[in-house]
Amino acid sequence: MGRIAYVNGRYVPHGEAVVHIEDRGYQLADAIYEVWALFDGKLGDAEGHFARMERSLGELSIEVPMSRAALTLVLRETVRRNRIRDGLLYLQISRGVARRDHAFPNPPVRPAVVMTVSSVDRAASEARAAKGVTVVTTPENRWGRCDIKTVGLLPNVLAKQKARAAGAAEAWFVDELGFVTEGASSNAWIVDGEGRLRTRDTNANILRGVTRHTLLEVIRNEGLEVDERPFTPAEAVAAREAFITGAGTLVLPVIAVDGKPVGEGKPGPVAARLRRLYIEQAKAAAV
Ligand code: PLP
Repeated sequence: MGRIAYVNGRYVPHGEAVVHIEDRGYQLADAIYEVWALFDGKLGDAEGHFARMERSLGELSIEVPMSRAALTLVLRETVRRNRIRDGLLYLQISRGVARRDHAFPNPPVRPAVVMTVSSVDRAASEARAAKGVTVVTTPENRWGRCDIKTVGLLPNVLAKQKARAAGAAEAWFVDELGFVTEGASSNAWIVDGEGRLRTRDTNANILRGVTRHTLLEVIRNEGLEVDERPFTPAEAVAAREAFITGAGTLVLPVIAVDGKPVGEGKPGPVAARLRRLYIEQAKAAAV
């Protein structure tokens, strides 16, 4: 973990960084968050994450705490003070601190802003991508607004723990019709038997992954075919390849679902190429 955190206008040693016990994020999960991958100390694929953060705040009627320019400065300063080149930058904005009551505080209070930075060993994550990871499935049991990136992540926490207990890296939620929605902290993809890229469309109750969005552009630029259509776990197993995307995982091959090998049970060429192209693109769009 980085040594310095940003908390409500102050840069403080990580071990001393605290929020108020009546912070609504802490008590009610009344908060949003955003995560950027850091490349060479810069915020990768930056614009999409800023835009989604603003949208999440808007959907919850939480005031934008500072201008985009000011926020960028503070985010970059937090990264700089931690001297981290490759890693993850976490931003959380809660509705603020107020006496506990489910309804919004009236008059509104100042949103509470927290930032932390952690380092990532890129060589280790490349080695992991070269090996691929496994996933398990779990019934979809989240609320109906998974498009908002809120800190209300308990179903995701339990799903991820189920994966961890099974020795898997990720859990895929499966809806009542039997289709994969997304992962506990990633979007889910396959390369089907015809070589088409398939991922759940964003009219479904999923997070609109920034990595997913940028990768769709990369895929189209490469002249590959995309089909934003749901798939079942059985279709994933019958696919040529599967992978997950997110700021934390970038593009990460999936080699088995619920213990059944995907395709030949090893990472395939499409995911490897898309990983490389995505990283190039995320770096090119870094601030
Ligand atoms: N889906 C969920 C539930 C997530 O939590 C995340 C990332 O944390 C993603 C998808 C991937 O989103 P992004 O590519 O914007 O990191």
